[in-house]
Amino acid sequence: MIIAIFSFHEAKGCNQGCTFCAADKQQREQYRNIDIAIKDLEYLIKRAKRLGVNKLSMYLSNLDLFQSPEMLYNFSQEIKRLKEENPGFEIETRGLSRVTSFLSAAKKHEQWVQSIKDSGLSTVGFGHYGADTAESLGAAYKFTVDMID
Ligand code: SF4
Repeated sequence: MIIAIFSFHEAKGCNQGCTFCAADKQQREQYRNIDIAIKDLEYLIKRAKRLGVNKLSMYLSNLDLFQSPEMLYNFSQEIKRLKEENPGFEIETRGLSRVTSFLSAAKKHEQWVQSIKDSGLSTVGFGHYGADTAESLGAAYKFTVDMID
């Protein structure tokens, strides 16, 4: 299998304010126009197939992946649709999340989170700084392991 690995820009900004962070923080997370982002993906899939690439593996640009769970869910549904339209072609996503954002989304919108995972989200990187307590970091870990099982 030939895999193209790259960063995909679909969101920027973070509403948190970690003192050590140089990112665009303390502002609402903003998504690109989803129609344009999907057009970009459609183009990339077309080009990849022409070059014999069978899988796109994307690092998503979100500073905190689960900060706007509804937007991430909507985006993941479009990825699901693209996969259905391109049988045999794989799309995988990865990203970073604050533990607290992930846990909040997982508790309030468990089905969304499961569906986002089913769309191809393979890895979530948690920064320990985003956990209020060691217990919350453990809870995020357990949740993601349970989802994989
Ligand atoms: S959550 Fe992440 S991106 Fe947001 S301010 Fe903290 S370190 Fe920066």
